[in-house]
Amino acid sequence: MSRRRLTRQQKARIAALRERRLSQAQKAAGETPDSLDGVPHHGTVVVRHGRNLVIAGAENNLVACQFRQNLGDIVCGDRVVWHATGEETGVVTAVEERSSLLSRPDYGGHEKPIAANLTQLVIVAAPNPPPTGYLLDQYLVAAETFRLEAVFVLNKADLLNDSHTPLLDHFRTYEEIGYRVLQVSTKQHAGEEELRAVLKGQSSILVGQSGVGKSSLVNMLLPDLDIQTGALSQTSGLGKHTTSSATLYHLPQGGTLIDSPGVRSFRLVISERDQLERGFREFAPFLGHCHFSDCRHDSEPGCALTAAVESGKIAAWRLNHFRLMAQTLGNKK
Ligand code: GDP
Ligand code: ZN
Repeated sequence: MSRRRLTRQQKARIAALRERRLSQAQKAAGETPDSLDGVPHHGTVVVRHGRNLVIAGAENNLVACQFRQNLGDIVCGDRVVWHATGEETGVVTAVEERSSLLSRPDYGGHEKPIAANLTQLVIVAAPNPPPTGYLLDQYLVAAETFRLEAVFVLNKADLLNDSHTPLLDHFRTYEEIGYRVLQVSTKQHAGEEELRAVLKGQSSILVGQSGVGKSSLVNMLLPDLDIQTGALSQTSGLGKHTTSSATLYHLPQGGTLIDSPGVRSFRLVISERDQLERGFREFAPFLGHCHFSDCRHDSEPGCALTAAVESGKIAAWRLNHFRLMAQTLGNKK
């Protein structure tokens, strides 16, 4: 977006307008539904700053909304019912049932919801910095836990050379397990069409190590990013949109992309052995076939997973990562 120069007078007028919108919305949040515009509208939460929400309405029009405490935690991606209180203001009166909820532990160890109704986790990796296989497998466990489809983007494909055969073999294993792997280069715009097709109609979030190119991907996928963030700060009345909060962006071809710096490097805390087992998709046919019904798939005799590795049906490194993750479970069954 071109940065227009505003006069002091214009700035003051905009600030006053923002203030008025905010107080309108705040007042409305304390009112009963009866006193609100009778028509309920549906919308999606684009961003939340404390008690303030920005909602995208049916025509992707942005509305600054407040919500009542009794609605619980509302997060980016939530589908809500709202009532207008002004031209671009409203109050949220209900949260619709979520199809998924991504959360992560806060500093106190409590699960903190981050984004709702996601359908897809896009795991970004690159030849440089090279991926940690363990971390990639953790993301897959997260995807299975939250019931999200997982897709790998191997970015910086322009850097691939003969020395990367082991890396490509690693990703071939993921493909054999049933995950899509897309080679992309934001630098050369390679693989862009395939990636757009995978994101179309989905609600996706990008995760991956720092430096693999997530910001570059967001910029490639959202040519109008500045316009969207500009419209957001204008609607929220909270000044420049800070990208520190999870934010939902509309993709030009349909579908949404939620960007959240906090989630980009997110680590899953695995709490249940069941959850861990389900996190390794290709283990499913072998579970329940070990000699001991409470087999930990470690060094027990008659372990069906160990046998599957020996017969080449499961990659040894996948079972190793499973075992390493199992150690973080402590003594829990
Ligand atoms: P993030 O930390 O995951 O958000 O990564 P960035 O988007 O900040 O990118 C990290 C570095 O990788 C930057 O210097 C980018 O210019 C570079 N980069 C991103 N995409 C590509 C690519 O496709 N090819 C190459 N060679 N470099 C890239
Ligand atoms: Zn076993």
